[in-house]
Amino acid sequence: MKGPAGFRLCPSCGAAAGPGGLAFSEGKIWRCEACGFQYFHNVATAAGLIIDRSGEILFVERAMEPRKGKLGLPGGFVDPGESAEEGAMRESREEIGWAPPSLSFLASFPNVYEFNGISYNTCDLYFYYRFPDGSRPPSLALGDGEALAVKAVRLSELREEDLAFPSLVRALRAYAGSLIRPGNKASPHG
Ligand SMILES: [Zn+2]
Repeated sequence: MKGPAGFRLCPSCGAAAGPGGLAFSEGKIWRCEACGFQYFHNVATAAGLIIDRSGEILFVERAMEPRKGKLGLPGGFVDPGESAEEGAMRESREEIGWAPPSLSFLASFPNVYEFNGISYNTCDLYFYYRFPDGSRPPSLALGDGEALAVKAVRLSELREEDLAFPSLVRALRAYAGSLIRPGNKASPHG
């Protein structure tokens, strides 16, 4: 099996991928028979924020592949040493210039994130924040270049094919029940 990173040589001893050398197994483990090297391509943690103001959800239009132009949530990979909540807040500040004062946990879903030829298996943790009724819209500012625009979309007007990732579709379903119109299946591979 080629494996998610496409390694052709053992990074420790340089043995070639194949019998007696480097091999990938169980969907996550690189092992080298020549030198005993082992690398676990473990699931990475990512966090997404559902920010809800009177039934409108704040989305970021993705500026980068994968799924460029599709709608994602403020969020991203959790950094080493961070909690998922801290990661979600940091990413939200970086992407839209604002983060909610508090978060509630919704649910988690698996995803596959393709970046530069490497497949990262992720576990996406979804949090939500609901503005109190009548509150003003937050002041937002596009930040780190990961978002082309911020869009507020009513839950009832969301189309599945506009959403960037299958895990996001599942999270919004969990959040809102069956308000998403049927459409093309979202795919992590574009
Ligand atoms: Zn080796």
